[in-house]
Amino acid sequence: MKIFVLNCGSSSIKYQLVENDSKKVLAKGVLERIGMAGSFLKHYSVYDYAVELKKPAHNHTEGIQLILKALVDNKIGVIKNLSEISAFGHRVVHGGEAFREAIIITKNVIDDIKKCIPMAPLHNPANLAGIEACMGLMPNVPHIAVFDTAFHQTMPAKAYLYGLPYELYIKYGLRKYGFHGISHQYVADMAAKYLGRNLSDLRLVTCHLGNGASVAAVKGGESIDTSMGFTPLEGLVMGTRCGEVDPAIIPFIMDREDMTGKQVYQYLNNKAGVLGISGLSSDFRDLEKAAECGDERAQLAMDIFSYRVKKYIGAYAVAMGGVDAVIFTAGLGENSPVIRKNICSGLEFLGAHLDTEKNNLRGEIREIGSYGDAVKLLVIPTNEEMVIAEETARLCANVVTL
Ligand code: ADP
Repeated sequence: MKIFVLNCGSSSIKYQLVENDSKKVLAKGVLERIGMAGSFLKHYSVYDYAVELKKPAHNHTEGIQLILKALVDNKIGVIKNLSEISAFGHRVVHGGEAFREAIIITKNVIDDIKKCIPMAPLHNPANLAGIEACMGLMPNVPHIAVFDTAFHQTMPAKAYLYGLPYELYIKYGLRKYGFHGISHQYVADMAAKYLGRNLSDLRLVTCHLGNGASVAAVKGGESIDTSMGFTPLEGLVMGTRCGEVDPAIIPFIMDREDMTGKQVYQYLNNKAGVLGISGLSSDFRDLEKAAECGDERAQLAMDIFSYRVKKYIGAYAVAMGGVDAVIFTAGLGENSPVIRKNICSGLEFLGAHLDTEKNNLRGEIREIGSYGDAVKLLVIPTNEEMVIAEETARLCANVVTL
């Protein structure tokens, strides 16, 4: 069964065509600069064929038309006819409380996703633009929405409610939702398989450390807490996002820097985090190089980042009454031995000892802790597209058997 997986941003579309039975990626790529001058498509096929096409895409519909055309192209295509695509899997960032799991998209579902726009004003409109464009172009195949928030809907009220007047939750849905759920769920599943244990018996701390970063406490396969909140701004210090700060800082900055609330929100999203601390870069590769050359603020940014991840690991170990494994994933979690070392130093009292040699090895799913440790340290490459493809296939199977 061939499934087309999409992740639509406001000006970009990332995609994969997945053969779900064999778990093979037939083609993948990204279309960038939608609605701007110089839009281009980078398309990679299973035959190792990579092309960059410079073509105008004024909106998501034109963008998706370009991508679908590339899929069936004589030279760079991987299928003969679009009818070979059995279903579309759409990543949707915010599903609010309406969606606890993936769902087949209907008009009502679209309306409910629209209701979540105030909570994800940057992401949900772009996700919807992609859904509506694809449904317009391919109306006769099932379209499935897979949500970043859904996995965290199992959090108990004591974890998701803020110390705010309760009526704000009732009126506006002001609560913690959590994000990166697709990734946290995937690596938790993979950890159980790797350890040869039942997920239902495990207490896992999953650390998704990319440009955006979050930690989750996964107990018995369910998310019971996570570091991101009402929006993806809360929690860890990230590439450009501040993570948790004293809310009193916001009116203080508005006053002293003569900014509106909206401007401070953008400032905390785009100019803060390790970029703001280091004054150098949001990319940890740059920070690591600079720190090696003695740049103290680059080192400080990395230390602040790692310290906060470590605090969450400790907090979640307590929240779960213990921990069986700590999992590192995403760009930084998978690729930076330096950051993993910073985070893991101090976890020895829990029963987790980093093996420096194993930590420096590259590869697929692997253990980086010492042999025989009570608490396992694992690196697990995430694969959100594969989860979306699997969820899509699962729901399509239900359609057929109904
Ligand atoms: P996102 O999907 O949130 O944009 P990724 O998961 O792709 O982010 O992670 C990107 C980040 O991972 C980069 O900004 C960089 O900080 C970090 N990263 C990627 N590769 C390395 C590496 N080899 N060493 C250190 N950091 C890395």
